[in-house]
Amino acid sequence: MSALILDGKALAAQCEQQLSERVASLKDKSAGKTPILATILVGADPASATYVKMKGNACRRIGMDSLAVEMADDTSTEQLLSKINELNNNPDVHGILLQHPVPGQIDERACFDAIALEKDVDGVTCLGFGRMAMGEEAYGCATPKGIMRLLEHYSIALEGMHAVVVGRSPILGKPMAAMLLEANATVTICHSRTRNLPALIKQADLVVGAVGRPEFIKAAWVKDGAVVIDAGYHPGGVGDIELQPLKERCAAYTPVPGGVGPMTINTLIFQSVASAEKTLG
Ligand code: NAP
Repeated sequence: MSALILDGKALAAQCEQQLSERVASLKDKSAGKTPILATILVGADPASATYVKMKGNACRRIGMDSLAVEMADDTSTEQLLSKINELNNNPDVHGILLQHPVPGQIDERACFDAIALEKDVDGVTCLGFGRMAMGEEAYGCATPKGIMRLLEHYSIALEGMHAVVVGRSPILGKPMAAMLLEANATVTICHSRTRNLPALIKQADLVVGAVGRPEFIKAAWVKDGAVVIDAGYHPGGVGDIELQPLKERCAAYTPVPGGVGPMTINTLIFQSVASAEKTLG
């Protein structure tokens, strides 16, 4: 069996074409105003700096601007809250991205929740999560929402599927599970205290790896014909799932790299354009 490749890189490139057109039309309608995504990077973590740069580049590729805010490693919660407030009140800013993780002295949850709902284009606030989980309108958390957009594009019928999500972080595992549930999958969420993880994964029609450990989920745990979604990316170009042996016997999989990563960034700019359309359009 040859598996379907869920090509996030190709889909993101295709979406960028459409987003460029939407941004151009917004500029026409609003006397040349350019949608702006504010990105906040606290500290000097090289991986976070790279992600923020990639997000700024994606904005520019579709004709948006990004406002890059960089704050020192020893920034306090109060200082970060004050910066977020300033951006909330800036009418030229249509979306705010606070790059995760922030240095340990900062109350990250308080700072995420300070982002105004209408500018929460990365989908990190409790309010946005709650609304999404209740099926109300809200911007989805970028990585799981990107995965949902990818599954939808490839017409993966989620209704009735048993989805097993490995990981329960606030920005990935939990919203992923809620989105799959909203799409009428039957969802099992696994975490570090889960017993019999291989046996649970064996039941999965769709498995999402969101663990943060290279090739932690073994190919032998995954049944034939499953849909395999790997959110991880580690040095050496591997994800959280041992993917290579699965390529011949799963139904579909996200490549690493080129699967989930590009869709995360694309979803952030997709939701930023939607936010700009609400105020400028
Ligand atoms: P995280 O906050 O570290 O969460 C990891 C999750 O894995 C936790 O819920 C943890 O359980 C669970 N876990 C750890 N060890 C386990 C074990 N032995 N068995 C079962 N579950 C275990 O990580 P994250 O931010 O969600 O990220 C997860 C992965 O996605 C990482 O590889 C990250 O790089 C990737 N990611 C990719 C993107 C992208 O854009 N492509 C974006 C975000 C994250 P507990 O809750 O019990 O501790």
